[in-house]
Amino acid sequence: MQKYDNYIDGKFSQSKSGQIRKIMDPANGEQIATVPESTKEDMLIAIAAARKAFDHGPWRKTAALDRGKALFKIADGIRAKAKMLAEIETKNCGKPLPEAEYDVADAANCFEFYGGLATKIHGETMSVPANSISYVVREPVGVCGQIVPWNFPLLMASWKIAPALAAGNTVILKPSELTPMTALELAKIIHESGLPEGVVNIVSGPGVGAGEELAINKDVDKIAFTGGTATGRKIMTAATGNLKRVTLELGGKNPNIIFEDCDIEAAVDGALFGAFANQGEVCSAGSRLLVHKSVHKQIVDGMLAKISRIKLGHGLSEGTKMGPLISSDHREKVESYIKIGIDEGAKLICGGKRPTSADLSLGNFLEPTIFDHVKPTMRIAREEIFGPVLSVIPFSTEEEAIELANDSEYGLAAGIWTKNVVRAHRVSQALRAGIIWVNNYHPTFNEMPWGGYKQSGHGRELGLHGIEAYLEIKQININLDETPIGWY
Ligand code: NAD
Repeated sequence: MQKYDNYIDGKFSQSKSGQIRKIMDPANGEQIATVPESTKEDMLIAIAAARKAFDHGPWRKTAALDRGKALFKIADGIRAKAKMLAEIETKNCGKPLPEAEYDVADAANCFEFYGGLATKIHGETMSVPANSISYVVREPVGVCGQIVPWNFPLLMASWKIAPALAAGNTVILKPSELTPMTALELAKIIHESGLPEGVVNIVSGPGVGAGEELAINKDVDKIAFTGGTATGRKIMTAATGNLKRVTLELGGKNPNIIFEDCDIEAAVDGALFGAFANQGEVCSAGSRLLVHKSVHKQIVDGMLAKISRIKLGHGLSEGTKMGPLISSDHREKVESYIKIGIDEGAKLICGGKRPTSADLSLGNFLEPTIFDHVKPTMRIAREEIFGPVLSVIPFSTEEEAIELANDSEYGLAAGIWTKNVVRAHRVSQALRAGIIWVNNYHPTFNEMPWGGYKQSGHGRELGLHGIEAYLEIKQININLDETPIGWY
C-alpha cells in the first residue's frame, strides 16, 4: 500500500497536523493508499512557497526555450511511468484500464503541446501615436491556485499545470480528495525533472478546509477550477477578496442530437459512448439524447441490442467496459435520480439497478441505465446526474431539436449526428455550447480550446486560448521625442 506525501517547496512531507486520509479502490472497497489530509495551515505554507518562487526564484525569468524543455522532460517522465500511472488511475477512479491509458498518454501530450508553445508567446508592436512606439508583452499572471475534480485526475492536473508553467507561473494544485494518487505521482515526476523548488506545489486535502484557501488567499493571483457548478460559484465569490483572475470548467447536461439522416449504427455507438464512457462521470457526457421521431425506434432498439456489451467489472480486469462509480455516496445520488425519473413518469428501458453478481458486490457498481420518452421539463432531463443514466427525448423538427438542446442552464458540449453537411454547420452554429462534435462524441484535443458557455464555465483551457488564461498583457510605450512636453 502506498503512503503519499504532499509536495511543497521542492520537498515531500506529510500534513502539519499529521492527519491522513485512506484512499479506497471503488471497485472492491480495499484500501490502496494513504495521503495527507491537509488543512489551511499546509495550504498557507504552499502558497508562501509559490509566492517566494514567483517573486524571487528563477522560473519566470527562465528562457522560454528552457521552460519548454522542462515541460518536455515532464512529458518524458509521464511516458516512462505510463503503465504504473494508468494502473493507479484505474484503481483509484474505477475507470477501465484502456480509458486510463488514453488519459495518461494525453497528459504527456499536453505537457509537450505547452512545452512547444512556451517559445511562441508573442506580443505586438505599434508605432502610433506619432513619435512613440508601443509594444505589448505577455507576462505570467503569478501564483496560480488550481483545483481539480475526481473523474480525470492526472489529465485535469496536466491541463492546469502545463500551460501555467509554459507561461512562467508558479502553482499550487489541489487534487480531489477522492482521487489524489496520480497527481501525487506527478509531483515525483516534476521533482525528478529538476524544476526549481516552489514552482509546483501539490497538496492533497478536502475542498472545504484546504482548497478554499486557494480562492480566498490574497497572495494567490489566479484560481483555475474544474468541478461542479455549485462549487464554481463559491470559488468565484471567494476570489473577490483580491479580485484574482478566475477560470472555471464546470458541469454540463449535454445534448447529443440524432437526426433522421444520420448513419444509424454510428449514431447508436456515439450515443452509448457519449453516455457511458467513464461510467458517465464526464462533464461533457451526452446525457440528453435528442432523437428524431422517425428513427427513434431504430436508435433505441440499437442501443438495447448493444448495451449488454458494456461489461461491468474491475477496471483492471480484461474486457471491462464500465467500472464502479467513485463512491457509495455518489452511487446513492445517482440512484436517487433514477427514482426521480421513475416517479416523474419517464420509461425505464434498461438498467436502473446494482448488478447482482457476487464479484461486484463490494464495489459501487450500477448498471448502465436508459430512460425513454423523457420530457424536457423532467429533472432527469435538466440536472447533471454525473453517472451512467441516459435520457432519450424524441423530437419532430430541426428547430425543435435546437430549442430543446439550448434549453439548459449549461452549455458545455453537444453532439450532432447527420450526413447532411449543410445541416451539420447550421445546427453547430445555432447551438450554445463551447464544444460541438459532428458524427463524433467525446474527443478532446490539446491543440483546441475546451470550455463552456453559460453556467458550464468561464474561460477556456487547452490550445492557444488555454495559455492566455495564464498571461497578463502589458503595454510599454516609448516616447521617441526627447523634447520636454512643456505642459506647465
Ligand atoms: P466538486 O465541485 O465537488 O469538487 C471539485 C474540486 O473542488 C475537488 O478538488 C474538491 O475538493 C474541491 N472543492 C469542493 N468544495 C470546495 C470549496 N468550497 N472551495 C474550494 N475547493 C472546493 O466536483 P467533483 O464532484 O469533484 O467533480 C464533478 C464535477 O466536475 C461535475 O459537475 C463535472 O461536470 C465537473 N467537471 C467539469 C469538467 C470541465 O472540463 N468542464 C471536467 C471534469 C469535471
